[in-house]
Amino acid sequence: MKFLLILLVALVGIFLWRSNRQAEVTRRRQQSGAAATPLAMVCCTLCSVHVPLVDAVQGSKGLYCSADHLRCAEP
Ligand SMILES: [Zn+2]
Repeated sequence: MKFLLILLVALVGIFLWRSNRQAEVTRRRQQSGAAATPLAMVCCTLCSVHVPLVDAVQGSKGLYCSADHLRCAEP
């Protein structure tokens, strides 16, 4: 009888631990899903390095990774 009581307490503890853990995983997934918006990437016309669109430099012949590459490609 004593073993059944210990087993019951252990099972209830495991059940509570797992349900708490699943709630935390769901909450983390919702937070990371909102923060993980993909960045638009573009390819540098001169060196083919991919850079975020917000960091790219616009030239008359295309987008560049830096102002140096803009000057090299379009003097
Ligand atoms: Zn470049």
